[in-house]
Amino acid sequence: MAHIGFIGLGHMGGPMAANLIRAGHSVAGYDLSESLLQAAAKLGIRACSSAADTTKGAEFIITMLPTGKHLLNVYREAGILEAAAPGTLMIDSSTIDIESARNAHALAKEAGLASLDAPVSGGVGGATAGTLTFMTGGAIETFERAQPILEAMGKRIIRCGDAGAGQAAKLCNNMILGISMIGVCEAFVLAEKLGLDPQALYDVASTSSGQCWSLTSYCPVPGPVPASPANHEYKPGFGVNLMLKDLTLAQSAAQQSGASTPLGAQAQQLYHLFAAAGHGGDDFSGIIHLLRGLT
Ligand code: NAD
Repeated sequence: MAHIGFIGLGHMGGPMAANLIRAGHSVAGYDLSESLLQAAAKLGIRACSSAADTTKGAEFIITMLPTGKHLLNVYREAGILEAAAPGTLMIDSSTIDIESARNAHALAKEAGLASLDAPVSGGVGGATAGTLTFMTGGAIETFERAQPILEAMGKRIIRCGDAGAGQAAKLCNNMILGISMIGVCEAFVLAEKLGLDPQALYDVASTSSGQCWSLTSYCPVPGPVPASPANHEYKPGFGVNLMLKDLTLAQSAAQQSGASTPLGAQAQQLYHLFAAAGHGGDDFSGIIHLLRGLT
């Protein structure tokens, strides 16, 4: 059993912390939201009155926050790096820009603490079921120390490289997802115009070279994949605003590194238009409405 501090008990952090409790760890949690803290306390998490309070006796501190700014604020201003005992391992699972991730590693190092960037894939469903994929960046020995803790929340734990490599993998993966979803949506919109039954397109493409996760796990039209958000009025799932955030991070990483990502840029633009039309809270597969010209 390990003592773990958990900061950020939102849609993802709440169920992740609950899985740590289920695995027999002791968890001290903090969130700015009082109602989330109360919900966490009902699950056996010690509700703390500040981020620094979660560090008491903790061997691991996990953060699951909205952006790099939030993470650096917590690292710089909440006093957790000063409060953490020597040897504490800082794990950040938020999806953030690579520069902030590297800055967070540097701050932890300055404070004499080990650190790992460990963003996740799998959404709220994966967080609840404990089947997340963790993509991590940091030293090998740090990765090995974190592995048993991450295994309580995920099914696949991958070391991608040194500091920031986990965030790099996350941004690249989600750029594929954002682009591929638009590709799949375009095919269904064209099929509609051609009078082709969507189920027929699904049956062909899901067993042909058009096969991809956006089609077979998350089909953007109702019918072929009953669990996909298209069957539930495009309730997320994975929201447009989160996809837009990840594509924006990918674009800024592409600009900084000099990578050419024209389809990533176009996908970012389309999700931006869709969000601006009032659909930021919809599931990202709802972008099919924009492509049909219906927003
Ligand atoms: P969320 O907004 O539900 O949760 C973030 C929580 O952080 C909130 O409850 C907020 O109150 C808390 N918070 C903010 N500042 C804080 C502070 N200073 N101290 C303590 N708590 C603070 O977001 P989420 O959906 O749980 O996502 C968290 C991260 O995971 C994001 O970076 C997101 O991009 C990433 N992510 C989300 C999903 C998803 O499907 N929701 C999937 C993969 C990755």
